[in-house]
Amino acid sequence: MLYLYNSLSRKKEIFKPVKDKRVRMYTCGPTVYAYAHLGNLRTYLAEDLLKRALIFNGYQVKQVMNITDVGHLVSDADSGEDKIELAAKKEKKTSFEIADFYTEYFFSALKKLNIIFPEITAKATEHIKDYINYIKLLEEKGFTYFTSDGIYFDTSKLKDYGKLTGQSFKDLSKNLKAGARIEFSSEKKNITDFALWKFSPQNVKREMEWDSPWGKGFPGWHIECAVISLKYLGNCFQNGKFYPEKFETIDIHCGGIDHIPIHHTNEIAEVESLTKKPMARFWFHVNFLVLKETRMGKSEGNALLIEDIEKNTFSPLAFRYLSLTTHYRMPLEFSFESLKGAENSLREIYNFIENCLWEKKFLKNKQNKAFSLKKYSKDFEEAINNDLNTPQALSVLWNLISRYNKVKKDQKKISQLSPSAVYQLLLSFDKVLGLDFKKIKLPKIKKEVQSMVKERENLRKQKKWQAADNYREKIKEKGYLVEDTIFGPRVTKINE
Ligand code: AMP
Ligand code: ZN
Repeated sequence: MLYLYNSLSRKKEIFKPVKDKRVRMYTCGPTVYAYAHLGNLRTYLAEDLLKRALIFNGYQVKQVMNITDVGHLVSDADSGEDKIELAAKKEKKTSFEIADFYTEYFFSALKKLNIIFPEITAKATEHIKDYINYIKLLEEKGFTYFTSDGIYFDTSKLKDYGKLTGQSFKDLSKNLKAGARIEFSSEKKNITDFALWKFSPQNVKREMEWDSPWGKGFPGWHIECAVISLKYLGNCFQNGKFYPEKFETIDIHCGGIDHIPIHHTNEIAEVESLTKKPMARFWFHVNFLVLKETRMGKSEGNALLIEDIEKNTFSPLAFRYLSLTTHYRMPLEFSFESLKGAENSLREIYNFIENCLWEKKFLKNKQNKAFSLKKYSKDFEEAINNDLNTPQALSVLWNLISRYNKVKKDQKKISQLSPSAVYQLLLSFDKVLGLDFKKIKLPKIKKEVQSMVKERENLRKQKKWQAADNYREKIKEKGYLVEDTIFGPRVTKINE
């Protein structure tokens, strides 16, 4: 039974798909105006973990992710420049070039981190007609109004606007005004109202603008996710039209915690006003990656990239390991020291796996009789199914490794070990962890080195220790290490 924390109810709940064994999962994608940084990637790693945990539990997952290539403005108050257009000006490129470039970069980052690619990725600019159709429906039902700079959503028309934040409409408005978090345009009826369609500024030719029944302009950021999720996951889109009455609540909607107060709150308003059904059954939010307690961000100017990790000779998967050491709902503090710790741990696990592969040549038991593996498998599953408790799941994995290594030291019990069963269990853990255990293979050892190892063994049998040691050095020069074990000499490649 999978328990997941639901931001909407603010408690852990048993997860069950709305329909059958199929899970419809929406993930808010990146705004492609700059390189996706490690903070962004922490969120996508946690969402990948969720997807893997669902698959681990026997569900089929259809994941949709949008790519925000227009409409995300510098200010959350629907003012300021479009982030993509601003980047285009700075980099002297077209907005489309900027978006394409950073989208490709983002995809390559997902690949490096072994993140399962979403079943559907949808560019915001390729759904303009759909937003217009949907805004028309909102207009027909009286949820919209005109201002001089766009079509706005009237948030006072919803009984429970702001429910994701746990605040009433009144309190939310009061707090927003008090905190002056966003400036309040005088034409807006309520401080919480937001743009569905923004008009292009007069006398300024925007690169990204489209005709609409209301005037030339571009979509607001929130309508993009609302419409894309409905179109691909809501089972209410046919022949180019939305049928809100047919909408089926989506299973999970994901994003970073910064999306709760504005972006997701507004998506809910757009969808629930017409469908009269909950937009998503579960709301899944990931806490921030922080640098010395400050959120990592593009605007904060402290963004680190995967390339910064690689430059420091760490592997991207060490970052994945690091992200698993902290629960996704807690802030994760990034430092190169902690990344180094993660890299060392990961190498140790890889080494253990290689060891299992080698030892299974000598210990051919199908089952591990030295101790029960069931307990480890059950404990791991319990940890994951308890709201993706990865620190706990990793500790189960480490306990398994140390138990195995301990038994190996006991001459009487060693023959009861099954390296093959342990290896298989680790592979099953990795379906959730995504650390690419499968890539670990026994090294191919050059013929020349194999004969040197044999020769060294002969010398050892003849107790010619000095000569044998000289061979060890020669083997090392060829890039291999020899370790003497109870099963004979084990050869590993240096730096692998
Ligand atoms: P953006 O490209 O700004 O739209 O953000 C893409 C995703 O990254 C969103 O889900 C954000 O919530 C998330 N995000 C942004 N900064 C951080 C951070 N420092 N830590 C974790 N997630 C973040
Ligand atoms: Zn979104």
